[in-house]
Amino acid sequence: MERVIMIKYGELTTKKGNRNFFVNSLYKSILNKLKNYDVIIYKDLSRMYIEFDEKKLNDILKKINKIFGIHKYNVAYKINSSIDEIEKSILEIIKKEDFNTFKVETKRSDKNFPIESIEFSKHIGGLILKNKNNIKVDVHKPDLLLNIEIRKNYTYIYTTDYSGLGGYPNNTLGKAIVMLSGGIDSPVAAYLAIKRGIHIEAIYFESIPHTSLEARNKVIELCKKLSIYTNNIKLHIVPFTKLQEEIYKKVDSEYVITIMRRMMYRITEKVVQKRKAEAIINGESVGQVASQTLTSMKAINNVTNLPVIRPVSCLDKLEIIDIAKKIDTYDISILPYEDCCTVFVPKHPIINPNINSCIEMEKNIDYESIIKDIIINIETITITENEKIEFEELL
Ligand code: ATP
Ligand code: MG
Repeated sequence: MERVIMIKYGELTTKKGNRNFFVNSLYKSILNKLKNYDVIIYKDLSRMYIEFDEKKLNDILKKINKIFGIHKYNVAYKINSSIDEIEKSILEIIKKEDFNTFKVETKRSDKNFPIESIEFSKHIGGLILKNKNNIKVDVHKPDLLLNIEIRKNYTYIYTTDYSGLGGYPNNTLGKAIVMLSGGIDSPVAAYLAIKRGIHIEAIYFESIPHTSLEARNKVIELCKKLSIYTNNIKLHIVPFTKLQEEIYKKVDSEYVITIMRRMMYRITEKVVQKRKAEAIINGESVGQVASQTLTSMKAINNVTNLPVIRPVSCLDKLEIIDIAKKIDTYDISILPYEDCCTVFVPKHPIINPNINSCIEMEKNIDYESIIKDIIINIETITITENEKIEFEELL
């Protein structure tokens, strides 16, 4: 009997007007992820079916587990929609299964099939009871649930439905720039944004020689982990040293972090515009550090009108760490290399900065021309799961 992987879309199907768009995006996403596995994929409005080579099933399922937009999936036997064939297949399937109790559930989406769903479940249940000893029906907690989906040309029979990652397919809900430090929070924020179908590019501020190349490599490694969930990730590396040194020299020490972050937002906004994105995403979490009080966020956010999305803003650190471990970024994030915030962090950063004070202090810095220069010198690389491709591209 031939088997196929059956994909169920879940949340996508609630988007009536855009259903085709979401389904096609998911189709492209799956096709792309499985391009090296000789699969054939076909789809209808509620399901996708993947024909596969049995030898490659485990590897294919590993990939499926990393694709957003899949609500549930199963590995189903695919047979012709004839009563005879369904009966024969059921008998073969139950021979392979070990169970004491069972239940049959039929879904008949092809109304030309001559027997109604409930009737057919009863019929198949009777057939199973006749052909296997010491078993009985349990409709509440069966050991074995036999699902029979009768569709137009084919019928699909499966026992276990697995949960997919959920979310929306890649690149379905616009593009944003994620501020990616080497820390724990921002990769999790990036992952959650990808989950909502946002196409992300990353921006990383480095202050060589105050920060090391290892710190940069850490961010590249994080991008590799994140690109498992996308095709690839563009990383914009910002030479931040000059501006950071200026801030350090010319700003009251308690305001250094606030103003540094205002500068980061200004630069990120420029990159958002150049890359035709629509929002900034970062890993700020309310209350975690001085720059993440609501008053600080207000003072920092004040330099841009763009939406700033903070996917982890209301999660506890432990909840963020749980996700970081799940997506395998945690071990990279805790490597000890300094990032530019930690290098310049003052003893007593202000927790309730005043916007006018920020503006006053910023008058001492010729930041507009420095930022212009920085933008020209941003280095952009494209990163895939297994490699880093140098990218010759001016922003
Ligand atoms: P993370 O764990 O993500 O580093 P954090 O708790 O250390 O976050 P901050 O250092 O205050 O918090 O940074 C808050 C957010 O600002 C980060 O989550 C990230 O989105 C962004 N950010 C901070 N430093 C950088 C950097 N060097 N490059 C890019 N983004 C940065
Ligand atoms: Mg940090």
